[in-house]
Amino acid sequence: AARLCSGAGGEAEAAGGDGAMLRHLARKLRASGPVTVAEYMREALTNPGQGYYTRRGGVGESGDFITSPEISQVFGELIGIWYISEWMAMGKPSTFQLVELGPGRGTLTEDILRVFKQLASVLSKCDVSVHLVEVSPKLSEIQAVLLTGGKVQPNPEDESAYMKGISKTGIPIFWYRDIQDVPPGYSFYLAHEFFDALPIHKFQRTEKGWREVLVDIDPEVPDRLRFVLSPSRTPATQNFIQAEESRDHVEVCPEAGVIMQRLASRIEKDGGAALVADYGHDGTKTDTFRGFRNHKLHDVLSAPGTADLTADVDFSYLRKMAQGKTATLGPVKQREFLKNMGIDLRLQVLLQNSRDTATREQLLHSYDMLMNPEKMGDCFHFFALLPHHRLVRPDKKDKPESKSPLPPVAGFNELLLK
Ligand code: SAH
Repeated sequence: AARLCSGAGGEAEAAGGDGAMLRHLARKLRASGPVTVAEYMREALTNPGQGYYTRRGGVGESGDFITSPEISQVFGELIGIWYISEWMAMGKPSTFQLVELGPGRGTLTEDILRVFKQLASVLSKCDVSVHLVEVSPKLSEIQAVLLTGGKVQPNPEDESAYMKGISKTGIPIFWYRDIQDVPPGYSFYLAHEFFDALPIHKFQRTEKGWREVLVDIDPEVPDRLRFVLSPSRTPATQNFIQAEESRDHVEVCPEAGVIMQRLASRIEKDGGAALVADYGHDGTKTDTFRGFRNHKLHDVLSAPGTADLTADVDFSYLRKMAQGKTATLGPVKQREFLKNMGIDLRLQVLLQNSRDTATREQLLHSYDMLMNPEKMGDCFHFFALLPHHRLVRPDKKDKPESKSPLPPVAGFNELLLK
């Protein structure tokens, strides 16, 4: 039921929906010619009126795809522990912002805030606030209900946020449409299944050189879309294909690159860390663009706006876009990261504490979904941005105490139980 990580293709679900987005796109294509896949994806997903995330929301068992935080509370709890562990390793700064990009239904934030509450004695002197970057009005409403009980203030005059409230655990929460609106300051960033939803450009190597894949109207069938190749090079083929590229088909997500640069600059300047988790590859895969509707693969060009569109994240590109401003760790497989974070111990405790068989079965089932290499264990990866000094101590020859080793970064190193 999750957006498992096979390549594109397979049996796609048939078209459907009310066709408003398709009519809008068809008009546009007839008037001004084919558009890039990125433009198509942006329209289909986040068009303010008809976009998929704007209208449908998609995440969850009743939606079109299910994500790890929706499968098990343990997922978010372990991520919450990761932030606390990094906060401690970085000398327990007196304040931090938790900034989540694309929070979906808000479940992950809720699980993290529960951990922060349980560890309140550790965090007691720290001023924590939550900042959610969400373009979908529908999902931000769902997040507000889950996290604050619906007690929110829209368009607060004194803030760059479009909404604010207080979490059920007493932490201030702010909503923004863009990462650039989030105030500067020491921040822990989180992007779970966010980068895969950002628009990609697609390129095909041909005998005449690189061509961009475009979306056009099919001249044979009214209101049907089809892929075509650009007749010549496009600005994107010139800017985004690396000279040493050896693949024949390449997907590039410039928007992910821009966001990555912003995260790296912010961490370099104000401190903190970023944790990115998504399905992806390290610059090796080719055609991964695919659609999901009602938990089934869906033809990406059929009934736009009614299905989730997604492409694997290219972690090698994200690493390059950090431009050395921060150190990077990973990608490591989800099953390794969660194992290193102590998922087995957490599962044992939850199993011991649950008396009824149904709960125990549910715990084991969700553990299997997250960890099984055939399910989400191998294709989802964790990747982190950290300040350089978190991994390599600046040279302090005169201070003998600097010889003590830096604490390992949880999740990316094997868990050693003392
Ligand atoms: N992190 C959540 C949801 C993933 S779905 C989970 O794991 O369950 C993708 C999320 O990103 C949705 O909340 C969607 O509305 C949001 N989103 C998509 N494009 C966005 C953009 N350009 N800016 C901000 N949020 C975006």
